[in-house]
Amino acid sequence: GAGFLDADFYAFQSLLTPREQESVLAVREFMEREVRPIADEYWERAECPVHLFKPFAELGTLGSGWAETAGDETSAVFRGWVGMELARVDSSFCTFIGVSSGLAMSSIGMGGSPEQRARWLPAMASGDVIGAFGLTEPLAGSDTARGLRTTATRHGDTWVLNGAKRWIGNATFADVVVIWAKDTADGQVKGFLVRQGTPGFTATKIERKQSLRIVQNADITLEGVEVAEADRLQRIDGFRDLAKVLRVTRDGVSWQALGTMIGAYEAAVRYTAQREQFGNPIASYQLIQDKLATMLGNVTASLGVCVRVAQLQDEGRQTDAHAAMAKAFVTTRMRETVALARESCGGNGIQLDHGVARYFADAEAVYTFEGTKDMNQLIVGRSITGHAAFV
Ligand code: FAD
Repeated sequence: GAGFLDADFYAFQSLLTPREQESVLAVREFMEREVRPIADEYWERAECPVHLFKPFAELGTLGSGWAETAGDETSAVFRGWVGMELARVDSSFCTFIGVSSGLAMSSIGMGGSPEQRARWLPAMASGDVIGAFGLTEPLAGSDTARGLRTTATRHGDTWVLNGAKRWIGNATFADVVVIWAKDTADGQVKGFLVRQGTPGFTATKIERKQSLRIVQNADITLEGVEVAEADRLQRIDGFRDLAKVLRVTRDGVSWQALGTMIGAYEAAVRYTAQREQFGNPIASYQLIQDKLATMLGNVTASLGVCVRVAQLQDEGRQTDAHAAMAKAFVTTRMRETVALARESCGGNGIQLDHGVARYFADAEAVYTFEGTKDMNQLIVGRSITGHAAFV
């Protein structure tokens, strides 16, 4: 029917405005029509359907949180819900869109001057410009707060960047990459808008990934890359400002994890209803029903957490620990759920054709990026005890 998620057991959808519900339905139809039929093929070939960026942008949901681009839908619950709809069909597609509209647009929206926001946000919302976000490095993953090696040195109105980045989504084709680097003068982390093709900037695709294969991740080298002072994010001065960006985007990953588990759950419901063993559909057996009930419980609890953390974001009351708890909790429930879905499909559960294997594999990267489970637990632990266990 025209309803929302069957997996929305406690009817959280009613928290969206009628206008937001319409937009979510349009996103859902787009994903079913354009992405579901090609997802397994693109995943197997490790290719990204970059040609779908612009048509997706035309639905008008990108950058709904910024004054420069906002339409009628502006709530964090709405933005999260859209991300969930993407991941429910393909978690890679959610990352592909989210790296630009979440990480890169949030960096510019929260860290840019009014001129920088006006220059970039409308162009990114309309799909004319694709963004990427370069924080992680070969030698700095969980400890980017203190461990960044990439440097920025100012000479008059020009900055010179040197260093390397790793895992940077979209960076091989993005028009603009937000590069985070340490100022050699004051030691503070600053953000720079580096355009594709700038001399000294090289992005090389990371091959042979076994998770989120559709996402194109890159190793980046920066060798004497010159960036104008006008392209330094003017309202970022230190890791504290970057952490505010990550707090918001971490919520987005919680919604992505939720979508990933819903996709696996739905496939398991379908499969177990039609698969017969011992003369009956396996869905009629108690042990299969126990797994399905556990999966739906995980989805329902996670949806409640995602909705509430988004509301706190909208109310301006969200802390790092709020976002960290959501990410750690929901990704843990996701990992259990995709494994139960995989198990319920037996041998066919490990093959792409039966609708579960892609979610099962993709969950691993979602579990690790934007702060591993460990790091997010330690952020919550710090807020409980007052002791930072990771510095
Ligand atoms: P490490 O930090 O080396 O961690 C390895 C293990 O050690 C983990 O289990 C971790 O929890 C544990 N550990 C580390 N420190 C501690 C500690 N103090 N106490 C206890 N345990 C600890 N980054 C970007 O900047 N931009 C992107 O677009 C991007 N996209 C990504 C896409 C994919 C598919 C992947 C896999 C990663 C992406 N990343 C991106 C990087 C991602 O954010 C990092 O992989 C993540 O932060 C973890 O860092 P790491 O891989 O270096 O692991």
